[in-house]
Amino acid sequence: MPDGMTATSTSDLRRDLAAAYRLIAHFGMDDGIYTHISARLPDGPEGDKRFLLNPYGLRFDEVTPDNLVTVDETGAVIDDPYGAGVNEAGFTIHSAVHMARHDAVCVLHTHTVAGVAVSSVQEGLLPLNQWSAQFFGQIVFHDYEGIALNLEERARIVADLGDKRVMLLRNHGTLLLGRSVAEAVKYAINLERSCKAQVAALSMGLTPVVLPDDVAAHTAGQYARAYDKMEEQGGRDPEWAALLRLLDAKIPGWAG
Ligand SMILES: [Zn+2]
Repeated sequence: MPDGMTATSTSDLRRDLAAAYRLIAHFGMDDGIYTHISARLPDGPEGDKRFLLNPYGLRFDEVTPDNLVTVDETGAVIDDPYGAGVNEAGFTIHSAVHMARHDAVCVLHTHTVAGVAVSSVQEGLLPLNQWSAQFFGQIVFHDYEGIALNLEERARIVADLGDKRVMLLRNHGTLLLGRSVAEAVKYAINLERSCKAQVAALSMGLTPVVLPDDVAAHTAGQYARAYDKMEEQGGRDPEWAALLRLLDAKIPGWAG
């Protein structure tokens, strides 16, 4: 079991990861067949690394626990129930992060309009509200270098990430690491709301009130303690349970 990985069964991990795809789609945070959410499985018998990823070409709202593909750290397919393979190039960034950050069970990448917008301004995310204050001092940046993710850029992404869990990819989108799938999804939802609120607040032509650093830092600490408590339960907190019930209510049979 990777460092920091909670005792989650493989079937729970498949269910949670499929739920992550469905929830990101439900909240309008997907981008066609692009971007990925990956989850790290416990190591195989030889210490081999294994990850779950979406089948190539499926929309996020078509992902189920049973059609997730198992790949190794290079993106090579180990198990592929659906038979469409994976987007190997798209997995390269996830692979690099997973191999460097064993505390991350889930790596979640988005291209949302609000996320791309905030990643595209020098100031990045401002502490303008409770959603964004939770990320105060927690966000790192990686400059855009083009679509191709070569080995050198992978190393720079890992170096830029350091020990943080939230990255704004300049002019590109967001990258989130979760100690559980649930944590990554909650970060993504809250970061998206933060970015939308910032775009809205700065579009009125009025003067924004930016929270003082000490208040923002205090708020970030409060959130961090709450997230830590959730992870003590493997990410299975009431909010995640409520999100799963949302899927059950909106999409009967989504989990197969
Ligand atoms: Zn991307």
